[in-house]
Amino acid sequence: MTLDIDRLLTTSDPTAVDDLYAEACRRRDAVYGRRVFMRGLIEVTSHCRNNCLYCGLRRDLQCTRYRLSKDQILDCCRTGHALGFRTFVMQGGEDAWFTDERVCDIVRAVKQEFPDCAITLSLGERGYDSFARLREAGADRYLLRHETADAAHYALLHPAEMHFEHRMQCLRDLRALGYQVGCGFMVGSPGQTLDTLKKDLAFIDEFRPEMVGIGPFIPASGTPFQHHPAGSVELTLRLLAIIRVMHPHVLLPATSALGTMHPQGRERAIAAGANVVMPNLSPQDTRALYSIYNNKLATGSEAAESAADIRARMKAIGMDVPSERGDFVGTSER
Ligand code: SAM
Ligand code: SF4
Repeated sequence: MTLDIDRLLTTSDPTAVDDLYAEACRRRDAVYGRRVFMRGLIEVTSHCRNNCLYCGLRRDLQCTRYRLSKDQILDCCRTGHALGFRTFVMQGGEDAWFTDERVCDIVRAVKQEFPDCAITLSLGERGYDSFARLREAGADRYLLRHETADAAHYALLHPAEMHFEHRMQCLRDLRALGYQVGCGFMVGSPGQTLDTLKKDLAFIDEFRPEMVGIGPFIPASGTPFQHHPAGSVELTLRLLAIIRVMHPHVLLPATSALGTMHPQGRERAIAAGANVVMPNLSPQDTRALYSIYNNKLATGSEAAESAADIRARMKAIGMDVPSERGDFVGTSER
């Protein structure tokens, strides 16, 4: 299938869209089979020094903040391991408490207790030496969405003290250090155009990340973009499918933002070529405080409940959910 990206992003021909989804699933299945990998998401801190204009954790927002202790994080991993998770994703705001020393200590402790598990970090921008220390301590993967591949669009979404070039440099540093790297963006973020989306796709095509996280933008109360409309589920699904066709080996989550926007959002993402789900393993009492956008999914449910729910949903659409690390397979080469 040749990818006419302009047409695929704009067509109202349902057959063209169905063909795209079918091709995406064929390519995914040829690499990974009909399998969906689970990642246990642990939201380690809601403190953030940054002021991204779209995010409900931005520093200017007055809200109750929390951070998890090493013991709390280990407890989340214990619960997750018993539920069959073999990847833990530690995500949070850019919180100065999480020094290299503390993160390394936590990573080593998790690796020591769960040597069969992969650790993904998603703690925002850090320096090369910091990324190197965390990698040395045992972190396998790092998620850092590039947010947009267009510098002017980046400047519209972020305060002046945040720099597009630095974000891109972080991604290159992570790659050089041997991480499995994830980039990504929100669909429908303020200022996004067909042109900026095409730049995102061109960047992904060139960078060949091991993971790509995309989900609709959802407004967050109290942020400068609180009244901006949410991104489109349909467009997100098309983009997932295009990315799968472009890069069949990529690990592609059916994001919670999609699940928040549509009751069948994650199932539809799998039918468009996604192959990862990330149920929440965070303690029940902190989930509502990690409010990056409004009406976030499953804020009150227990880890076991979220995991059982997502497993059942995946099985119902004919996907297997193995208890495996689910590493990137193959090559990032084109
Ligand atoms: N602080 C780290 C960072 O920025 O990379 C990790 C946590 S941050 C909350 C994770 C991702 O959430 C961001 O990369 C962004 O794309 C997404 N996000 C933030 N605000 C959002 C919103 N209002 N709607 C949808 N996604 C959002
Ligand atoms: Fe902080 Fe990440 Fe939110 Fe930006 S997107 S304010 S870095 S948590």
